[in-house]
Amino acid sequence: MSDSLALPDKNWPVLEKGWVWLCGAGPGDPGLLTLHALNALRQADVVIYDALVQEAILDWAPQAELIYAGKRGGKPSAKQRDISLRLVDLARAGKRVLRLKGGDPFVFGRGGEEAQTLVQHGVPIRIIPGISAGIGGLAYAGIPVTHRDVNQSVTFVTGHDQSGNVTSSLDWVAISKGSQVIVIYMGMKHIARIAASLMEAGRPASEPVAFVTTATTEDQQVLETTLGSCVDDVAASGLEPPAIICVGRSVMMRQVLDWQGMAEGHAPRDLDPLGRGRPAETA
Ligand code: SAH
Repeated sequence: MSDSLALPDKNWPVLEKGWVWLCGAGPGDPGLLTLHALNALRQADVVIYDALVQEAILDWAPQAELIYAGKRGGKPSAKQRDISLRLVDLARAGKRVLRLKGGDPFVFGRGGEEAQTLVQHGVPIRIIPGISAGIGGLAYAGIPVTHRDVNQSVTFVTGHDQSGNVTSSLDWVAISKGSQVIVIYMGMKHIARIAASLMEAGRPASEPVAFVTTATTEDQQVLETTLGSCVDDVAASGLEPPAIICVGRSVMMRQVLDWQGMAEGHAPRDLDPLGRGRPAETA
């Protein structure tokens, strides 16, 4: 396998003993790994990975001990502090440690906390960014996270805080007013509260919303709905997390940009979903 995936010429960084590399694995599709991630996988003695990391990615580290640090089979997830301290212990034991996280390690992934603990304990680190679900996952659904005709800003929010409740520090009125497009991570559980908050803050019930579950994997599903209908539609769909939720008119672009559907032979539903009446590139 490694022969068929030779890294291009470059002085690739060496994962030294006693170091921890915090690395993003992307949203799912192994092809969305970075070359730095692949380089890391090939050198690690130990890979500590999360629930959202696809098993196929771990095949690139056949030499490594694999440690699972996520939730599985209803068992509670390992405590964050325990994971961080485990990383410290492994590094101190002289291992080459790869901490592999879904998406980007610094986007709602607690990678910042783990990195901080490591530095506080004197463990040297390297950060390898990854493609975050809120960007790459939406792209696989044919939703551009920005589009000149739709939005000049985008807000990424988390649907719940450390205690599992709807994030109390979020100012939904400010977000509603300030950002044409809102991308919500971990939002499934509290979607009723979130949708209600956005509508109370003035977003129309007719506003397009998309749910993209297990984005970029073979099991990816997309539900197009509206703020007013999304709670019922999600319940009826039986969709399960992980889901990335996009609120805003960029969801309409899927009508022309659902490239996976087109590859399967479906015609675009509307070549000009925003009704601009001109080819997009002439602006
Ligand atoms: N660090 C990750 C996010 C971790 S938080 C990143 O940058 O993508 C976990 C949340 O991310 C999930 O609840 C879900 O909202 C989102 N997510 C991650 N991977 C996903 C995927 N393949 N499909 C849909 N949502 C995903």
